Amino acid sequence: MRQYLKNTWDGLWTVLVGMKITLKHIFVPSVTIQYPDVKPVLPERARNRLYVNMADCIGCLQCATACPVNCIEIETVKAIPADGPRITSNGKKKALWVTKFDIDIAKCCFCSLCTYPCPTECIKMTDVYEFSEFNREDLVYNFASLNEKEIEEKQNNYNKFMEEKAAAKEAAAKAKAEAAAKKAEEEKANNKSNDKPEDKTE
Ligand code: SF4
Ligand code: SF4
Repeated sequence: MRQYLKNTWDGLWTVLVGMKITLKHIFVPSVTIQYPDVKPVLPERARNRLYVNMADCIGCLQCATACPVNCIEIETVKAIPADGPRITSNGKKKALWVTKFDIDIAKCCFCSLCTYPCPTECIKMTDVYEFSEFNREDLVYNFASLNEKEIEEKQNNYNKFMEEKAAAKEAAAKAKAEAAAKKAEEEKANNKSNDKPEDKTE
């Protein structure tokens, strides 16, 4: 019986000690952040989700080359003269169409190494840190702005341009060869007429 009472008192005493601490902290201002109701203020250079401004991307691959985990995939098609001049906001010439620009953010380690070599500063870290998804595939971000039809059109335009260029080059080489052959024939004919013996009938 004595032990029973002792155990009961110990239990009660433990609760009272716990309650004393709780009561003490009720009147102390809160120091924890009530996420997600209260969002933390991030440092100015915090590294979170990447963003690419495709209007300024020249498809140079420098970001993909710098990435240590190969989570950036870029594909391009060369622009042709008929596409007209395309310039980025910092004056760089856009000689390529970027047909694919995917970042697998699930693989990204937020090192920011891709942002430093970018010549147009169009790939950057943002302050967005809430982007969880149920499906892993949804963490692959597609930044390229061309649709399938436009990509096909750009590819066809480039192929046609190259075919025409090759045909023009071939025609020019043929014309040059013909002109050289004609000139050689003329020279040969001239040489023959010069080699004829002089008339000595006087
Ligand atoms: S932040 Fe680092 S890991 Fe992520 S895409 Fe850029 S280079 Fe790759
Ligand atoms: S480094 Fe910049 S310009 Fe070059 S492909 Fe990457 S995002 Fe585009």
